[in-house]
Amino acid sequence: MQSDIVAIDIHTHPSTEIMLAAVGKRREAMAKYFKRERPAVSFEQMAQYYAERKMMAVILNNDDETTTGLAPAPNDHLADAQRDFPDQFIAFCGIDPHKGKKAVDELRRCHDELGMRGIGELNPARQKYHANDPAFYPLWEEAQRLGMIVLFHTGMLGSGAGTPGGMGFKFKYANPLDIDEVAADFPELQIICAHPSWPWQSEVLAMARHKTNIWIDLSGWAPKYFPAELVQQANSLIPDRILFGTDWPVIDPDQWMEGFAALPFKDEVRPRILLHNAIRLLGLAPNGGAAGAVTPG
Ligand SMILES: [Zn+2]
Repeated sequence: MQSDIVAIDIHTHPSTEIMLAAVGKRREAMAKYFKRERPAVSFEQMAQYYAERKMMAVILNNDDETTTGLAPAPNDHLADAQRDFPDQFIAFCGIDPHKGKKAVDELRRCHDELGMRGIGELNPARQKYHANDPAFYPLWEEAQRLGMIVLFHTGMLGSGAGTPGGMGFKFKYANPLDIDEVAADFPELQIICAHPSWPWQSEVLAMARHKTNIWIDLSGWAPKYFPAELVQQANSLIPDRILFGTDWPVIDPDQWMEGFAALPFKDEVRPRILLHNAIRLLGLAPNGGAAGAVTPG
């Protein structure tokens, strides 16, 4: 990690040719919802973009092969980027919880051989499961043992939005209270609830206040749409649990920062959200090297 980093974007979706090919059919519907096509961006271009802004980015993969039939991008692809651009990227692996023992084995490989730091983005609604289903407990147990951070999509779904029947996606799987149960049962497992979790904003704020292994990322929403209680609690009760994230390329860091600047976050809270909370979660030390075990704040 460079010493002059000003922010860590905890939530980005690389858009290399390989990643876009894996997104497959979903790409078309997403482009329609977010009113933007995704051109391919190489890891080199993405690293340069973040370096120019003195930012690091957590690059996310996902594996939802069981429900979509689409083969995921290889986790090695993201691990290579982390190795090639260590000042810019931290890589999380794509794991399909439905794959059972194969999922646990892949998680272990991603940790032991590829040096990846977490799992995500997991999307229970798109992948049709409850995160607290006991069938997946061996996976969360292994993630906890390995110190792998887990990032779940929560709340409103981009997938299927604005289509008849929401393309079959159901909100019952997007409620963060499922994740509260996982956090309770695996207290050493660090869990990021991605996005303002609307329509369960109050629930996730209570979870982050109650459990120090729950973190909230601010990705996927233009800041001007953040619910008022999210800003208010970030300023008061949980300034150490909130993380900057964009969902790049859906929202880009410049656009996000502009919206963030316009909101009434306290000056002393801003650097915590942008940088210090993520440093603590990821166990990073300025000027290179890991600071050791992840310490919940
Ligand atoms: Zn995302």
